[in-house]
Amino acid sequence: MFFDSATPLQLQEFTVPYPRTGEAVIRVDLCTLCGSDLHTITGRRQEATPTIPGHEVVGTVVCVGNPAPVAIGGAALKPGDRVSWSVCVCCQNCDRCRNGLTQKCRSVTKYGHELAEGHAGLSGGLAEYLLLRAGSAVLEVDPRLPDEVVCPANCATATVAAGIRLAGEIAGRRVAISGAGMLGLTAAAMAVHFKAASVQILERDPKRLQQAAQFCPQVLATDSGQWPTEADVILECSGSHDAIKQAFAALAVGGTLVLAGSVIPTPPVALDPEQIVRRCLTIRGIHNYTAADLLAAHSFLMAEHRRFDFARLVRRTFPLQDINEAIRWAIAEQPLRIGIRPGRTT
Ligand SMILES: [Zn+2]
Ligand SMILES: [Zn+2]
Repeated sequence: MFFDSATPLQLQEFTVPYPRTGEAVIRVDLCTLCGSDLHTITGRRQEATPTIPGHEVVGTVVCVGNPAPVAIGGAALKPGDRVSWSVCVCCQNCDRCRNGLTQKCRSVTKYGHELAEGHAGLSGGLAEYLLLRAGSAVLEVDPRLPDEVVCPANCATATVAAGIRLAGEIAGRRVAISGAGMLGLTAAAMAVHFKAASVQILERDPKRLQQAAQFCPQVLATDSGQWPTEADVILECSGSHDAIKQAFAALAVGGTLVLAGSVIPTPPVALDPEQIVRRCLTIRGIHNYTAADLLAAHSFLMAEHRRFDFARLVRRTFPLQDINEAIRWAIAEQPLRIGIRPGRTT
């Protein structure tokens, strides 16, 4: 069985498992839904069911295994801790994990994408409780960060942190960002944070363009046809075939293009190798992130969540029992995020 757009989600009861070594039971405080969740739930991406979707979660530790999971900073988790964690669970032992690509672990599993069966079946955020698995990179969340700010951190914010890491130095460089979705807005704010000489964000949807200008007035928000003639760093967050071609042309000598938005198949883009050589260009791809990127995302949000209104990007929150209404609303209104609060009943 797979998800399809005609079948609504159903609420089911599960037995909360007793946590084993390195695991914890988490009470879900808020789960936000991103575009990939909606692709999954509406059947655009094939995903076997039964599954509990949702990977952008902030929650509270209820009980821990023996030994308890350890947060990125080294502290053992205990009941009452407020946490978020990486989308990917890795083994920390295979060649990819050892080479710093933990998100591409040879035995990787992902929250919100596993069958809701057996001991680890509570793996998605659209639930009252979730089993935090051994091998997750766990973030102790600062109490000053609202749930709405924290939730997307383990998806868009950490992915952008990884993209910025690959882009290298941002200070003093001319940055262009393609696409004003959650990734693009976060990238714009992060480029401002890291003191780029200039930041331009390109978007073809007028509503998103307006939202970008309000969210991040420090940047130049333009239609997607108005590429700069020279950009030192380009973060491509739209996945658009045309945008990638234009981004390549807009790179300055010595420039770096980071591709982050191309997560569904598109026609190939022809690249001129002579141009890559003569203009000394770098092209990098980034998918998901490492524990260090998640920590960087948290630090960035701590520093900037008041200057950039991330909380408002979660346009509405719904109780869990209204999940199907929430999904209908999200598809109709196309907000960057909606939130689901399992603990809320009205
Ligand atoms: Zn996400
Ligand atoms: Zn591994």
